[in-house]
Amino acid sequence: MQSLPSAPPVLEPNGGTRFILYRKDRVRFLEGAHLLKAFRLEPESSTRRVLAACCNTPIFLEFQNGHWLSLYGCLWPAGTLPRLELRTMTSDLPADRARALPDDVPNSKTQSVSFFVKLLGAWIAMGFRSPKVTGVSGEIQV
Ligand SMILES: [Zn+2]
Repeated sequence: MQSLPSAPPVLEPNGGTRFILYRKDRVRFLEGAHLLKAFRLEPESSTRRVLAACCNTPIFLEFQNGHWLSLYGCLWPAGTLPRLELRTMTSDLPADRARALPDDVPNSKTQSVSFFVKLLGAWIAMGFRSPKVTGVSGEIQV
């Protein structure tokens, strides 16, 4: 995605991707929803990444039927990102990069129990609903 024309950087210097997770019922697109296009790593992927087709800015990652959206950190202006709370899937990094991660927050090789507990807590608060994200039209082939 980062290699698309005018796309902003997605990867952080440590090789990770910064996400800010929100309940789907707390995210609305006020303008430009018609520009949202899905990108899938494989045609049958249950996960889709959604970009703004005007400038190839990644907007969010969505797990099919998930109750949350993972919004890309590049959407926040410098200095305004919410505080980092945890890192997950550090096993996806090369071993030397994983070892070099600071211990400022928990670094989990996979998705940690506390990560799932937070997701489950949000889902309970939502009454176990998984709202549909509307407005995404079409797919981007890369
Ligand atoms: Zn744009």
